[in-house]
Order: sequence, then structure tokens, then C-alpha cells
Amino acid sequence: MSPVVELRSDTFTLPTARMLEAATRARLGDDVYGEDPTVRELEELSADLLGKPAACLMPSGTMANLAALLTHSPRGGKAVVGAESDIYVYEAGGVAVLGGIVYEPVPTAADGSLPLDAVAAACEVDADDPQFALPAVLSVETPNNRRGGVPLSLDYLAGAAALARDHGIAFHLDGARIFNAALALGVPAADIAAHADTVQFCLSKGLSAPVGSMLVGDEASIAAAHRYRKMLGGGMRQAGLIAACGIVALTDMVDRLADDHAHAVRLASGLAEIDGLRLDPEPPRTNMVLFAVDTERTTHTTASFLAGAGERGVRIAELGRDRIRAATHSGVTADDVDHAVQVLADVMAAAPRAAR
Ligand SMILES: *Cc1c(COP(=O)(O)O)cnc(C)c1O
Repeated sequence: MSPVVELRSDTFTLPTARMLEAATRARLGDDVYGEDPTVRELEELSADLLGKPAACLMPSGTMANLAALLTHSPRGGKAVVGAESDIYVYEAGGVAVLGGIVYEPVPTAADGSLPLDAVAAACEVDADDPQFALPAVLSVETPNNRRGGVPLSLDYLAGAAALARDHGIAFHLDGARIFNAALALGVPAADIAAHADTVQFCLSKGLSAPVGSMLVGDEASIAAAHRYRKMLGGGMRQAGLIAACGIVALTDMVDRLADDHAHAVRLASGLAEIDGLRLDPEPPRTNMVLFAVDTERTTHTTASFLAGAGERGVRIAELGRDRIRAATHSGVTADDVDHAVQVLADVMAAAPRAAR
């Protein structure tokens, strides 16, 4: 039987044997009392790795981002975010609903950045005029998921941080896959995090832990976010079970992300050979490959192509507006990539009518 190749997301990664073993051996306590030693250990490790004074384990990236923005903005404040960002697109409007915070979405450039002139325009309001919501926080995402996993440059992050500082607002980084970004830039993750006041990163994406995200930052911000975590229902009791997996994620699973990046390049070069597919021009920088069905060259639609792929066991995701995403991860081998390319070529070749 042909293998199922799961390329929809790196969130499909399963916990490793070492994670499960670590979970069964973990020393546990009640983390709402601050007495789970394994959670403390993960928080210290995370703060150290990211070069920040403090960290808080969160049940999800969504809650980490939400707690951070609640920390940085009062009700009626404004959060400047990317129009293509996870915070704006995929987090159910939590910042507006639960924080009374106004989003100001800024268009995202092809390199994943929010152009700083647009960010500046969103920040420039007359603070003496009561008509305006006052900007409180800027949030950027690296690598940018919906732009195909492109990492923001350190220069860009420095510029964004300076802009936020000049306007007296906080700078939050949604670094769900910050270790992929760090690998792509060839720098420690702490060099990326250094520019932001708070950073969230996911343990449950390419790092393959089953649950959890970390929020890191200064002591005061993390203490405030910790209170918001409780308020949002995210206080967890023997969370060391999760934290034990997170510790293994950070010690075992960071360096191997290089394999995922190599597999993404391999996948992209295979897909580039398939007539009827159009790849994002840039080679993948991290673990994501973005492409589209070229309807000028095939009678396939995105829907028929995805359905054909799915029937043959290759699972890829539609990102909306006819963009397709494939994500590599620890559950995908080089052989799986080659198999997926073959299957996708067969699906494309079986188009009902060639439009050439
Ligand atoms: C996955 C993701 C999140 C949210 O994390 P969850 O744990 O799924 O809530 C936030 N930002 C980005 C960029 C992500 O990819």
C-alpha cells in the first residue's frame, strides 16, 4: 500500500518516543500553585534559549498571542497586525472580542514583512484628539506562514522595533516557528527574539510536541500574561506532562529542522517539473512550499487537483484564493517527498482535458 503523505501542516507531527517516555517520568505538581517542577524547567529553558528573563507555558499559540496582546494593550487600544497574520486571520478575533482591542491590519509584502511606512501610518495618530484609538502594540510574524514560511531579516526586525519604540508602543513577535526562521537566517533564535518585547513560539509545530506554546519576555510582561492565562482558562494543573514533551522538543528536535528545510527544497524542485503547477518564484526558505494550479495550462481546478491528490494519499492544504501549501516535518522522509511528487505529477497528467 502506498504511504499517506501528510503535507497539510507540521501540526500533524506526533510526539516522539522520547517525549512519551519523558512524560511518564516527569516530576509533577499543581502548576496553578506554581509547583510543577517540570513546567518551571521548561520555562527556564525557553527563557534561556530566547535570551529573555522570563517565560510562561501556554496551552496554545493562540492563547500566547492573545495573552501577550492583552498585556500590551488597554481596552480601546489599537493592535497593528499583518492582514495575512495568524493573529488576524486564524485566531477567531480573540483580541477584539476578549480584549476590546481594535485591530489595524496592514498589508503584507511578499517577503512577509509589514512595510514600515504603512506601520508608521497606522501609529501616527493625534493623541490629543479623542476621536482616535491609540496604538498600543505592533505584532509581526516570523517566519510568515501565509507568505510561504519566509523569515523576516534581522534588519527588518530592528527597524520595526525602533519604530515601535519611537511611537511608545510594545513590539510582539509571533514566532510560532522561530527556530525555523533562526535556521534559515543562520543565527540563534535569541538574536531574533532580542528585537521584541514578547515572543510566542509553538512547541507543537515542527518541534513535534503534542501541545503547548511558550511566551517569553521581561518579568513584568510575563507576570501579566500569566494572570491573563488564568483568566482565559489556561491555568493547567499537572502540566508537567506537556512540559516534559516540550523539553524534549527543545533539546532533540531543533537541529533536525534542517531536514525539513532540505525536504521542502526537494519538494519544490520536484513540483517545478510538473506542467500545470505554478510555484512561488522563490525557493522555500523554511519548511513550506507554496504553489498553485496554473489554470492556463491545465483543466484542473485547485479543488479537483486537491481531491485527486487526497484520493491518492497525498494531503496538501488550500490556503485560500487558490493558493496551495505543503509543509514538511518530522513525519515526512525524503522518500515520502519523492512519492508525493510522483503522485502529484500523475494527478496532474490525469487532467480531464489538457488546455494546451
Ligand atoms: C500555529 C500558529 C499559531 C497558533 O498556534 P496554535 O497552537 O495553533 O494556537 C500562531 N501563529 C502562527 C504563525 C502559527 O503558525
